[in-house]
Amino acid sequence: MTTSPDWGRAVKLVDGADCVCLACHIRPDADALGSMLAVAQALHGRGQRVVASFGDDPFAVPAILRFLPGLEVLSPPVSYPARPELMVSFDASALDRLGTLAGPATAAGELIVVDHHASNSGFGSVSLVDPAAAATAVLAAELLGRLGIELTRDVAMCLYAGLVTDTGSFRFSSTTPEVHQLAARLLLAGADPAAVSRELYDRAPFGYLGMLAGALGRAALDREAANGLGLVWTTVTRTDRAPADLPLDAAESVIDVIRRTNEAEVAAVLKEDDAGVWQVSMRSKEFVDVSKAAARLGGGGHARAAGFSHTGRPDEAIAALKRILDRA
Ligand code: AMP
Ligand code: MN
Ligand code: MN
Repeated sequence: MTTSPDWGRAVKLVDGADCVCLACHIRPDADALGSMLAVAQALHGRGQRVVASFGDDPFAVPAILRFLPGLEVLSPPVSYPARPELMVSFDASALDRLGTLAGPATAAGELIVVDHHASNSGFGSVSLVDPAAAATAVLAAELLGRLGIELTRDVAMCLYAGLVTDTGSFRFSSTTPEVHQLAARLLLAGADPAAVSRELYDRAPFGYLGMLAGALGRAALDREAANGLGLVWTTVTRTDRAPADLPLDAAESVIDVIRRTNEAEVAAVLKEDDAGVWQVSMRSKEFVDVSKAAARLGGGGHARAAGFSHTGRPDEAIAALKRILDRA
């Protein structure tokens, strides 16, 4: 359910607003938080009042994203205006992805939705949704261009982090010539690609190795699943994370190892969050649209990368997933 992006109306609203209230999806990734911080810093830099947050309770920036410039513009969702005059959401495919900020989003005078999920529900009053965009960061860069705002080094760093994350470091099929052109513009503006990759992919505390070993050691392969295309899956429990006191986001990279498995089209990692809820990441290679399976299980995402949440036992979630994959 997407219409073509209404850039003209979005520019008019942002230009005319006294204060712009920004939000991104809960448990933010680099695309969500990076896109929001980029726009927040750009608007602040030209003298506009901004509020920027995300609706997680408790409110905490994932440790892996604490290198992003501009974190000082963030404020906790408890101090977010209940009825913003103008609100802009980033990388959220549906209202419930805004967590505790879904209320302000519903009450906002205008809500501009900046997103690239094909499954976007069509919420908000102004759509900047483009499923063809490789990342929400691409759309955030376009918005800044149309607002006539020059990219600073800090803004470029935030957008670059989103672009790198959602294209799998320029490896996924979403990596178009336009993606590389934007990357070039961001580097020209001062983004540091080595620093971004080091922070996102190439560093972890020693205890990470133990957590990874536990998760890899438990990986299971079901060659018959997904109509014979195969499913590989594992879990990362709170117990795996406890010895080194690792946050949930330390488990995010496990899927990138699991999904290499030749014998499986679909990979899934079930990560137990601090409240005991399983946050499930799914990836596919060529044939299976995992966003459809995720949607059936109350989540969403893209054709090759999607997720859902499950309260209960992990084997129940896998059994439900297998039933859906067999029918797809
Ligand atoms: P991840 O596996 O966390 O990197 O997420 C992959 C994709 O699935 C992203 O586009 C997310 O927006 C989406 N996604 C992950 N978890 C959920 C969820 N619980 N509900 C809706 N979408 C999700
Ligand atoms: Mn995201
Ligand atoms: Mn994204």
